[in-house]
Amino acid sequence: MTDTLSDSRTSSRMFTEDVPVVVEDVRRRPAAERNELLSDPGFGRYFTDSMFVARYDAGRGWYDARLTQYAPLQLDPGTAALHYAQSIFEGLKAYAQPDGSVATFRPEANAARFVRSAQRLAMPPVPQEAFIAAVDALVDADRDWVPTGPDQTLYLRPYQLAVESFLGVRPAHEYLFLVIASPAGAYFPRGVHPVSVYVSEDYVRAAPGGTGDVKCAGNYAASLLPQQQASALGCDQVVYLDAVEKKYIEELGGMNLFFVLGSGEAAELVTPELSGTLLPGITRDSLITLARDMGHRVTERKVSLEEWRRGVADGTVTETFACGTAAVITPVGEVKARTGDFTVADGNPGPLTMRLREALLDIQHGRVADTHGWLHRVS
Ligand SMILES: *Cc1c(COP(=O)(O)O)cnc(C)c1O
Repeated sequence: MTDTLSDSRTSSRMFTEDVPVVVEDVRRRPAAERNELLSDPGFGRYFTDSMFVARYDAGRGWYDARLTQYAPLQLDPGTAALHYAQSIFEGLKAYAQPDGSVATFRPEANAARFVRSAQRLAMPPVPQEAFIAAVDALVDADRDWVPTGPDQTLYLRPYQLAVESFLGVRPAHEYLFLVIASPAGAYFPRGVHPVSVYVSEDYVRAAPGGTGDVKCAGNYAASLLPQQQASALGCDQVVYLDAVEKKYIEELGGMNLFFVLGSGEAAELVTPELSGTLLPGITRDSLITLARDMGHRVTERKVSLEEWRRGVADGTVTETFACGTAAVITPVGEVKARTGDFTVADGNPGPLTMRLREALLDIQHGRVADTHGWLHRVS
């Protein structure tokens, strides 16, 4: 590859109906360096050679969409997002397929959720087709960065932030929409291990009428202190309760929860209902479908901490797992709470947890037929 290229050209790819994607030539790291990074990518540590950027101005709408060099942004110190967190994001993955192609998983669901997040933060939404076109364009440009090792993926991070320089409190008139990509290793390279969780009784993640049901940056900022508390107690993750009664299980800081009742073919799944304070996970939704395909009953309803504790004690709750794009499925083992600690079953990953995990991974990595049409072929 050449090292210095400055040309840019308009590709046939469109962002919105009247905004084409301009493709700039980027400096590509040599294959040896890339392969070195891909051999042990970890999570969120390395970024690919390109990034996608589009601009928005209240007068013009979306404009200037381009694939460009991955590089630092220049922001005015008055940039609104830095002060008032008018900022949203998404997370999805690209998977190398056995036939050599690359596919993303249900990107239209991420695109739809990104629109809802934008609306909640009074931001102009990125049209769904434009979101998908941007993700496709980046994956296509940097497809050499899609790792092919077992359970490796290219994690994609679309995000939108207010970039108008203005300190008054109102929705900004200028925005950036970006997509960056980061290779990700297998979440459990040495076998699946259950996480320990800490039930936070001091802090809540989301309140009715708040922003818990959208993916905004501020939700994560507020989760860092309870996460620190959990870590200090030796726990991996925080379980949040509902803000009103502090009684019902909601979810983890970035993953939804499922409980398995009973065992074998008769096992049932229960997951907290989308009451307006939970983030509607795409993994959650996919697992509900897969579990029903397998013949299991799945119920979305309220689950109290007491029901969880009692169920584990009397054997009705046999498994608990968390799910999200980054980790797919993570079994939950130990639970710490001020009102008493307990361990789910024998603390090892449960059979239905592992079956669902394999079933979803098999679809995503193209190892079984994609009967629900969830894969979106990119290149
Ligand atoms: C992103 C996220 C999830 C998981 O959503 P997926 O679409 O499955 O990745 C769950 N909870 C919270 C709070 C999240 O931000």
